[in-house]
Amino acid sequence: MTSPLIPTDLFVHGFPTRHGGVSTGRRDSLNLGYRWGDAPENVAENRRRVASCAGFDIERLQVTKHVHGTRVWVVGDPAPDPPEFDVLVTDKPGYTLGAFAADCVPIVLADPVRRVVAAAHAGWRGTVAGVMRNAVRTMAERLGSRPSDILVVLGPSIGPCCFEVGPEVVAAFASALPGVRGLVVPGPEKPHVDLRVATRAILEQEGVHGEHVDDQPPCTRCNPDKFFSFRRDGQEGGVHMGFIGIRG
Ligand SMILES: [Zn+2]
Repeated sequence: MTSPLIPTDLFVHGFPTRHGGVSTGRRDSLNLGYRWGDAPENVAENRRRVASCAGFDIERLQVTKHVHGTRVWVVGDPAPDPPEFDVLVTDKPGYTLGAFAADCVPIVLADPVRRVVAAAHAGWRGTVAGVMRNAVRTMAERLGSRPSDILVVLGPSIGPCCFEVGPEVVAAFASALPGVRGLVVPGPEKPHVDLRVATRAILEQEGVHGEHVDDQPPCTRCNPDKFFSFRRDGQEGGVHMGFIGIRG
């Protein structure tokens, strides 16, 4: 899947579905994450297929372990070992940045004016802690982007239909984003949170234009034929990767 918001002459980006890979079982078939125990050769082949299909250099795919935090890595800066970041940013053509997710929201950002891109992993903890605020501010402060130029696409992720939460999560969102309408919606049992509403509110607070946010991805949990879902499949399931890079 791609978004019409991102100009394809400047950037390569995408959010692959679960189809077209070689993994089996509940990871059938395009599992792109190594962490949950798939055969490494399957994951490597799946990543090669994505790179080949999208047209980017697999050797220059940049990914890190996500930790539901807010730290940003500007590709090229020294990174600690092991590198643990939830956002990657670059203004260097040729690199492709990946963000993993399986219900959490993979997000790609692109500034077509200054030619800067970012890939972010935003679950509820990172969202509340300010991961997207840090993404936009790093693009601005380190690489000269104006927030009003930044385009943002939210990838397939758990929707408000399925994201049932406990009272501590409701409280965390109410505290981080007071007064935002539609953030918490009633569910059949417990309340549900809409991560898209939260992300859009944070982006707009940072100066991103509302019409520059594509925030209507399909729900991963509702669509087992197309997507992996941690809530549905647990660690036996696969992982998706959203990606973006600047064309050379
Ligand atoms: Zn759903």
